[in-house]
Amino acid sequence: MKKTLTLLFTLFIGYAHAQNADSVAIRKIFNEALSNGKSYEWLRHLTKQVGPRLSGSAGAQKAVDWTKQVMEQQGFDRVFLQDVLVPHWVRGAKEEAFIHNGKQKTNVPIAALGGSVATGPKGVEAGVIEVKSFPELRELGADKVKGKIVFFNRPMDPTKINTFEAYGGAVDQRANGATEAAKLGAVGAIVRSMTNVHDDNPHVGGMRYGTGVALIPTAAISTNAADLLSKSLTENSNLTFYFKQNCETLPDAKSYNVVGEIKGSEKPDEIIVVGGHLDSWDLAEGAHDDGAGCVQSIEVLRIMKSLGIKPKRTLRAVMFMNEENGLRGGVQYADLAKKNNEKHIAAVESDNGGFTPRGFGIVGTPEQRAKVMPWKPLLAPYGLLEIGAGGGGADIGPLAQSGTVLFGFKPDSQRYFDYHHTSIDKFETVSQRELELGAASMAALIYLLDQYGL
Ligand SMILES: [Zn+2]
Repeated sequence: MKKTLTLLFTLFIGYAHAQNADSVAIRKIFNEALSNGKSYEWLRHLTKQVGPRLSGSAGAQKAVDWTKQVMEQQGFDRVFLQDVLVPHWVRGAKEEAFIHNGKQKTNVPIAALGGSVATGPKGVEAGVIEVKSFPELRELGADKVKGKIVFFNRPMDPTKINTFEAYGGAVDQRANGATEAAKLGAVGAIVRSMTNVHDDNPHVGGMRYGTGVALIPTAAISTNAADLLSKSLTENSNLTFYFKQNCETLPDAKSYNVVGEIKGSEKPDEIIVVGGHLDSWDLAEGAHDDGAGCVQSIEVLRIMKSLGIKPKRTLRAVMFMNEENGLRGGVQYADLAKKNNEKHIAAVESDNGGFTPRGFGIVGTPEQRAKVMPWKPLLAPYGLLEIGAGGGGADIGPLAQSGTVLFGFKPDSQRYFDYHHTSIDKFETVSQRELELGAASMAALIYLLDQYGL
C-alpha cells in the first residue's frame, strides 16, 4: 500500500512538474509575442506594400516573393516553394449599376463575384424578381423568372451569436445563385452582400457555375442598396435593374505555396503545420482575410526560435495560395504530403480574422480531442476557453484524409463580416494587440502539440 501511494505521489509530482514547465513556457511565448512581436509590422508590409493579391495577379507573386524573403531572414532551417497552378480571374474596369424606376436612375454599388462572366459591353437591363431562397425561386418557375434578373436578398441571420454560422446560412446564394437563376432562364443574378452591417460596400466572394446551365453574370450588391432595391420593388414591381461588368477568366497561372520549416530534434518525420492563405480578394488589402493568419503563422516559428525552443517535431509555417477562388494550394499541399510520404500529425489554420482569441475548433476523433482536453487549464488564463469539436480550416482541410488532426483558430467573430471581402479589409482595422495575442495563442497550441503529439 505504501509503495502504491509513493508511486502515485511520484506520478502526481511528475505531472505537476510537467504542467508547471508548460505553463512557464506558454507564459514566455505570450511575453515574447506581446513585447517583441513582429506580426504587426509584417502585416503592415503585406497589406500596404504588397496589397491585393488574388491568385494569378502580380500582387500574389509579390506576396510569394516577400513572405519567402521574410522567412529566410528569420533563419528557419528551410524555406521553399511548392508549384501550384491557379485560376486567374480578373475584374476589369469597375462595374456600373442602377435602379431604373421609369422616371429616374439611381446608381448603386455592386461588384462582380469571383468567377463570374461579364455582361458584355452594353450591360444587362431587365425586370427584377426578388427571392429569399432557392425553394421560393423554384416555386415561381420559369414563367416568372425567364428574361429577368434574380435578386437574392436573404440576409445573414443577425440573431446567430457566432457570425460564421450566419454566414453559412446565407452564402449558398452567392455560391450557387447564378446557377439556380440560370436554370429558370434568368439573365443575371444580384446577391445581397454577406454581412450584418448596413453599408455601401459590396462584399465579394467566389461563385461557381453548375454544369449544363447558361453562364449568366452575377454580382454582389451592398446591403444598403439591397434594402433600397427591395423597397423600390414594393413601390414599383415593374422597375428595371441595369448592370455592367467586365470580368474575365484567363488561362490558369503558375503560382506557389510558401513554406518555412524548423526541423524537429527528436521526431523530425512528424510534421506540425501552422498556416493561413496568402491570396486575398482583388478589392482588398486582405488584412483580416487572411494577411493576419499568414503573419501569425510566421510569428509562431519566430517565437520558437527566439525563445530557443527546440521542437521535437518538425514545424512548418505554410502560406497557402488560392483559398479564395479555388483552394488549389491546400489541395496541392496535401497531395504532395501524400506523394512524399510525409506524416502530418496536426495542422492549425488561422483564417477567421486577427481578432481577440477565444479558442480552437478541433477536427479529429473523440480520442484525439480527449488528448487535447488536459491542456485547457494551461490555455484558459489567456482567454482560450472555446476548445472542442469545430471547424478546422479550408486550406488544411484536404490533410484530414490522411488522418491529420485539424485545429481552426477561433478569434472573436463579431466584426469579421464587417470587413470580409471588401475594400475596407484594411490594415487599420487590425488591432496590434489582438493580432499578437492570436499569434501567441497559436504558438502555445503548437508548443503543446510538439511536446505531447496526438
Ligand atoms: Zn480567408
